[in-house]
Amino acid sequence: MSNELLYVTNLNTAFRTADGELSAVRGISFSVDKGETLCIVGESGCGKSITSLSLMGLLPSNGYIKEGSIDFAGRNLTTLSKEELRKVRGKDISMIFQEPMTALNPVLTIGYQLREPLMLHKKISKREANKQGIDLLKQVGIPYPEKRMNQYSHELSGGMRQRVMIAIALACRPQLLIADEPTTALDVTIQAQILDLIQDLKDDLNMGVIMVTHDMGVVAEVADKVMVMYAGEKVEEGDVESIFNSPQHPYTQGLLRSVPDVDDPSFELEAIPGSLPNLNENITGCRFHPRCPFAMDCCKTESPKEYDVNGTHRVKCWLQEVREDGSAREKVAT
Ligand code: SF4
Repeated sequence: MSNELLYVTNLNTAFRTADGELSAVRGISFSVDKGETLCIVGESGCGKSITSLSLMGLLPSNGYIKEGSIDFAGRNLTTLSKEELRKVRGKDISMIFQEPMTALNPVLTIGYQLREPLMLHKKISKREANKQGIDLLKQVGIPYPEKRMNQYSHELSGGMRQRVMIAIALACRPQLLIADEPTTALDVTIQAQILDLIQDLKDDLNMGVIMVTHDMGVVAEVADKVMVMYAGEKVEEGDVESIFNSPQHPYTQGLLRSVPDVDDPSFELEAIPGSLPNLNENITGCRFHPRCPFAMDCCKTESPKEYDVNGTHRVKCWLQEVREDGSAREKVAT
C-alpha cells in the first residue's frame, strides 16, 4: 500500500496590500508520507505559518495561492471549492494552533466544540457524538472527561486546553495533522507531554504530521525530516539526522548554534546577526546574503540553485557548488 499522503509543488502564496503584492511563500515544494513528521522551521515571519494556512485553505482574506499545487490523498486542494475544502478541513486535515485560548470558543462548552465536528463530518447523533467526545478526552489524557464536557475553556489550564484542541483536531481521525507552534505557550514539562502525545497519536493513527516551529529542540524530539525556510523560501531540507549532523546552509547552521547544548556547559550560544527582510523588500541574489558570514559576490546578484547533498538532503546555497567542484567563487569581505 502506498504511503504517499501530501505533495506540495511550487507553492507561491501572496497578499494583496495597499503597497502592492507581497510574496510570503516563494516556490516551495515538499512532501509528507503517512506516519511521517515533517518539521518546518525558521524564524517568525519566514513563511512557515503561511505555508500551513495555505494547505488548510485558511489564508486571511487578502491572501491567495498564486501558483502551485497541493496534492493531498489524490486530490489537488488548490482546485477545490470553499465548500469542498471545508469538508476536507477538520475531517481529513486538522490543525492545532499555538494558543488554544484564542482557537477555542470561550462561550461554548468543550463538549459542544467536540461534538460539532463529529456530528458534521460523521453524521452521527448528538448522543453518539457526546460518547465519542468523552472517549477523545480520555485518549488525550484529560482526567474527569465527563465533567470537562460541560466546562468552558477559561476553566482549564493551558496544558489542558492544548489537549482539548488536540482532541478536537483528532475527532474525525484526520490523515494529516498540522501543528503550528503547539507547545510555544506552554511550560517545559507540559511541552514534553504534548509532544509525546502527538507522537503517540501519530503512531496509533498512522497520520502524517506537519510541525511548524522555530525551536530546534522540538525538531530534534519529533522530526523525521526537516524543511528550513528563510524569507519565504525553502533553503534546506533533509532527514533529521542529516540536518543535525551535517547542516549545509549557513542559516541552518546558525539556527543550530542558537540551541543550548545541555551536555556541553562550555557551548556558546550564538544569535544570527541581523533580522529577516520585509516581505516587500526587493533583495537580489540569495535572500540571506545580507546576514550571511560566507556571502560571495555571486550571492548578491544570483539566486542560488538547489543542490542535492545526499539523495534526500537538499540545500539552496552557492557554497554547495564550491564544495562540489572546488571552484571557489570570489569571497567578499564580511
Ligand atoms: Fe550565504 Fe551565499 Fe549561501 Fe546565500 S548563497 S547562504 S549568501 S553563501
